[in-house]
Amino acid sequence: MKKDIGNWGNYPVIESDESAFTFTGEFQNYIKQTGAFIPRGNGRCYGDASLAINTISTLKYNRIISFDTENGILECEAGLTLDKILRVIVPKGWFLPVTPGTKFITVGGAVASDVHGKNHHIDGAFSAHVLEMDVINAQGEIITCSPEINNDLFWATCGGMGLTGMISRIKFDLKKVETSYIKQKQVKARNLDEIIRLFDEYKHYTYSVAWIDCLKKGSQFGRSILILGEHAKTEDLSNHKQNVPLKLPKEKKINFPFNLPSFVLNKWTIRIFNFFYYHKNFKKEINNVVSYEPFFYPLDAILHWNRGYGKKGFIQYQFVLPLESKQGLVEILNRISNKGLGSFLAVLKVFGKQDNLISFPMEGFTLAMDFPVRKGLFEFLDELDQIVLQYGGRLYMSKDARMKPEVLQSGYPHLPEFKRILEKYNPENKFRSLQSERLDLLVK
Ligand SMILES: Cc1cc2nc3c(=O)[nH]c(=O)nc-3n(C[C@H](O)[C@H](O)[C@H](O)COP(=O)(O)OP(=O)(O)OC[C@H]3O[C@@H](n4cnc5c(N)ncnc54)[C@H](O)[C@@H]3O)c2cc1C
Repeated sequence: MKKDIGNWGNYPVIESDESAFTFTGEFQNYIKQTGAFIPRGNGRCYGDASLAINTISTLKYNRIISFDTENGILECEAGLTLDKILRVIVPKGWFLPVTPGTKFITVGGAVASDVHGKNHHIDGAFSAHVLEMDVINAQGEIITCSPEINNDLFWATCGGMGLTGMISRIKFDLKKVETSYIKQKQVKARNLDEIIRLFDEYKHYTYSVAWIDCLKKGSQFGRSILILGEHAKTEDLSNHKQNVPLKLPKEKKINFPFNLPSFVLNKWTIRIFNFFYYHKNFKKEINNVVSYEPFFYPLDAILHWNRGYGKKGFIQYQFVLPLESKQGLVEILNRISNKGLGSFLAVLKVFGKQDNLISFPMEGFTLAMDFPVRKGLFEFLDELDQIVLQYGGRLYMSKDARMKPEVLQSGYPHLPEFKRILEKYNPENKFRSLQSERLDLLVK
């Protein structure tokens, strides 16, 4: 069915012929009958990675195949969302090994973007927990791959943005938990130096992330709140909560009803927001126990919050810089603050070591910021790209809608090998997205 589709950033929006499948046989027929297309999960990437003239949704291909409750291993179809998985695994004392900042993504999307969470420095990205998966290639063959079997396909599929084939079945391991609660600590940092020091001081925490105020200058440049967490043990809970330690959180949702006019978001509204956010706690440090939902998914409480950026949409700009490149972070934050381009959501995190073929994470600082699409934004982001490259960093394809192919090439040293694997599994560019066209990822 033809309709206009976009991803979370609502930029770009294109007309696409979207189909769906429930069984692998249906998908194999679709391959024979359709030209080029791209698999599509829940559309939670921000840019154009799951957009194409033909798209095939996995959302109806969403069954659990097996759940080993003894050893914590889940096997499922790729269109199952993390939201639905949590409802099944948490009451049995298991949790996702890695989760991004929204639970409304599919497992196929988690592998194709090789998503990271607040625990990357301890547990790595999602691919580190995948035991094996099936990928359906351009000829309709189902190929099982893992770090041991057909490992070229495995590593090119983790972070490969749907270009190696359709991930159909995934088997991955889970994390054992005693409760569904998180022991949370929040620490305020006065400036960038302090937040960097605090990340190091608290690096033994499983989960860590910081909200950062991009508009502050002078002695408060980079003021932040560091948010840390550990899965709570039963003894950490109040008596009342100890009765049902693995309780699922209640679904409390507000709907953002319409697109806000784009002028509502400006440096003054962001300054006011940042002021209240930073001062919401008077104390330097707070410790409490919260359900996993507000800790991992605070934004999921407001459905369609992306409409707050208006009809033209927004870009989430996320980059990573090596640990020793703090100066690059300072330069980028300075440019943003001088331009008056604050972001409501500016999130800083430290990644641990990772050297996959095409996945985004590498050891260093990653910063993600949202900017509404406006005149001059893309030119400004092109300038930031150059700073990222100069300091040895790269951008996240899953958030991208505008980077130039040279920026991808300079940031991803294993790109030539990735392209060689695409020649083997997708020689005629049957799996093809707007992003793969823009980033020169087509096999020639
Ligand atoms: C609020 C919010 C917070 C986020 N936080 C984080 C975060 O903390 N960390 C992080 O890493 N990401 C984060 N993301 C990004 C998100 O996790 C990824 O973009 C994820 O891939 C989206 O999955 P999806 O199911 O919505 O897939 P889509 O957005 O539809 O597709 C994403 C990519 O996966 C491919 N794909 C999807 N399914 C398949 C399949 N079965 N086979 C082959 N390819 C497939 C698509 O072709 C596309 O290239 C966040 C997104 C939002 C909206």
